[in-house]
Amino acid sequence: MKGSFFILFILLFFYVPYPQQDKYQRSRSQMVERQIAARGIENKATLNAMRKVERHRLVPKDQVRSAYQDRPLPIGHGQTISQPYIVAYMTELIGPRPGMKVLEIGTGSGYQAAVLAEIVDEVYTIEIIEPLGVNAKSNLKKLGYSNINTKIGDGFYGWEDHAPFDAIVVTAASEYIPPPLIEQLKEGGKMVIPVGAPFTTQQLMLVEKKKDGKWKTKNLLPVRFVPFTRN
Ligand code: SAH
Repeated sequence: MKGSFFILFILLFFYVPYPQQDKYQRSRSQMVERQIAARGIENKATLNAMRKVERHRLVPKDQVRSAYQDRPLPIGHGQTISQPYIVAYMTELIGPRPGMKVLEIGTGSGYQAAVLAEIVDEVYTIEIIEPLGVNAKSNLKKLGYSNINTKIGDGFYGWEDHAPFDAIVVTAASEYIPPPLIEQLKEGGKMVIPVGAPFTTQQLMLVEKKKDGKWKTKNLLPVRFVPFTRN
């Protein structure tokens, strides 16, 4: 009897509630190794962010089990959250670093914003479909991100009050590069944007604004994004 009390005492005494890793940590690590690192993403900050952000907490309930699969997922209102690899690719492309201020067009689920917010200082993100923007804002708050600023509106005009940005990530396909976004990019800054007609294969493009204010573009990858819409 005495012995079992002693064992109980020992157990209670040494029970330290370790912060539990969420049960999807393993799925995330596998996602990073198999889908992202395996396809050539090398940027450490990007890989770490992708290992950390709880994608399953940003997708609709009926998609939670698919959250770490190698594909885009529906998020309602005819929109999608990008495939994890594409999020990583776009993140790596802007060369994310602490100290940066980044604008995202197309908040959607909030996932791309969260990945950026793990690395850079401030993220500004705009969504045109109100219920999506409201939902992403609330989910991002629950996940504890205090450096993501959300807004409902047409991202075509950027977010002038906080410009210029070190980088801009556009996650909806536009037929051309919105001029206000180029204007709001810092000299030396980078923008990544899918360009092309809706519901066709578009080109993911890198836009670099040079020190003299001129800019150049580079085609990177054929992609399929949901269309950039206007009110
Ligand atoms: N970055 C998102 C991907 C969302 S899909 C994520 O990580 O989940 C692209 C999003 O762009 C959609 O939610 C769509 O509603 C939004 N969008 C389309 N046109 C827009 C515009 N003009 N301004 C802001 N958001 C827009």
